[in-house]
Amino acid sequence: MNATSLQALRTVNSFAALPEDFYTRLAPQPFKHPPRLLHANAAAAALIGLDPSALRTPEFLAVVSGAAPLPGGDTLAAVYSGHQFGVWAGQLGDGRAHLLGEVAGPHGDWELQLKGSGRTPYSRMGDGRAVLRSSVREYLAGEAMHGLGIPTTRALALVVADDAVVRETVETAAMVTRMAPSFVRFGSFEHWAAARRPDLLRTLADYVIDRHYPECRQAGQGSPVAALLAEVSRRTARLMADWLSVGFCHGVMNTDNMSILGLTLDYGPYGFMDGFDAGHICNHTDTGGRYAWNVQSSVAHWNLIRLASALHAIEPDQDALRAALDGYEAAFLEHWHARMAGKLGLAAWQPGDETLLDDLLRLMHESRADFTLSFRRLDGLPENCPEAAEPAGRGAAAGQDQGGEQGGEQGGGAPWRRFLDLFVDRQAAAAWARRYVQRVRQDGRPARDRVAAMHRHNPLYVLRNHLAEQAIQAAARGDASEIETLMRLLADPWREHPGMQAYAEPAPDWAAELQISCSS
Ligand code: AMP
Ligand code: MG
Repeated sequence: MNATSLQALRTVNSFAALPEDFYTRLAPQPFKHPPRLLHANAAAAALIGLDPSALRTPEFLAVVSGAAPLPGGDTLAAVYSGHQFGVWAGQLGDGRAHLLGEVAGPHGDWELQLKGSGRTPYSRMGDGRAVLRSSVREYLAGEAMHGLGIPTTRALALVVADDAVVRETVETAAMVTRMAPSFVRFGSFEHWAAARRPDLLRTLADYVIDRHYPECRQAGQGSPVAALLAEVSRRTARLMADWLSVGFCHGVMNTDNMSILGLTLDYGPYGFMDGFDAGHICNHTDTGGRYAWNVQSSVAHWNLIRLASALHAIEPDQDALRAALDGYEAAFLEHWHARMAGKLGLAAWQPGDETLLDDLLRLMHESRADFTLSFRRLDGLPENCPEAAEPAGRGAAAGQDQGGEQGGEQGGGAPWRRFLDLFVDRQAAAAWARRYVQRVRQDGRPARDRVAAMHRHNPLYVLRNHLAEQAIQAAARGDASEIETLMRLLADPWREHPGMQAYAEPAPDWAAELQISCSS
């Protein structure tokens, strides 16, 4: 039976049971103006056993706007440190977030955290607030990632108020309630190593292992701390392969934004790529491209090395730590290949497939072909491939000249042409597609099975920047219908939703002008 009020939830507050060094207990700062619930997420509520009817109550709004504590919760802001853009940044912490408490739900324990909930001892120069624009983006992203089957924090509620927040311009204040089994970051460990407090580092490691990685204590695992590092490495490697496989860029992969659970955490200037650029930088502020799409996996490894060196303060066996990190690349490749075999519709990854994939990515890069559609449109190639290359010049004679195209690549069914439409050099794309078709035929899988499997790996809808922007603009007018539409669509991005073709289209020209920066 679902709880119909927050009052009926059972709280456990395990993080708050740690020594007070780890946090500061304090209440959120409510807005000056009356808050309005823009959207609440029934799917996230279900995780904590909260009935959808509870989301419409004044009691719920009071909690998710920071005006009232979570019943049974222990409200606090946590301290952590981190490396930002490769440089040690010292102490950071929840500068605009409050952990409301931890709920024991039917689907495990979930921490509820407000973001944009006012100043804390860790705010430094910040105002403790978040703007509507970035809050809508964070709210949507958690559910979009979850819909794609990628580990992530979830979003429970989005609240807005008329309070003014000064960024480059004056903007509207908003608050997101996020959920995760834990918000502990790599930087939470770095904090105690830098503070030369191995005792507290040990306390934190024990806490994380006991609650989230109990298997690390099993006999035969060797040092639990090294086992923890190995498992975090493995999860992080898989996460990177997940991100890359959907064209996702995080934008600010600082160690304070790296989840110890391998979740996608802290959605700021993230982006799902439209036209594929291997070196795509989604964060306008990241001028050096430190967090470009194609370096995310190696940056994650660098971040893991920072975590390892923090853990060294409590794990003197350097070889064990090094061995734990060594598993990273193999875990990444294994998951990347599995993901890519799925996207290409191959029964299993074979060594020669690397070249096939690289060549596709190169063609996509050269044409800035739409990332999502390039993969989605592979599904019809084998059945629509023009069987034999026609003599040179035939296409031109038929009035289908595509810049000296040879081999009659304008033949083939509509799906074949729709794939080629994504590329500037159609001839090169067609030559690749013929190789691809040959490879697919080797598997000998029935088309129906193959296509069904491909549609579970290649989303039709992703949270493109322009879609998020439309939702933001509507939200600014008090209209949450676009948020609702996107939440529904992105929860199941694999199958075609009738009447939603516009949401599957490549970005319109105006989207190129959108600049997403760290400002939030
Ligand atoms: P981020 O880059 O968003 O992950 O934030 C890095 C650090 O800055 C974290 O410690 C945040 O809590 C803090 N921070 C970001 N924005 C604000 C703000 N408006 N007010 C207070 N602290 C902030
Ligand atoms: Mg952060």
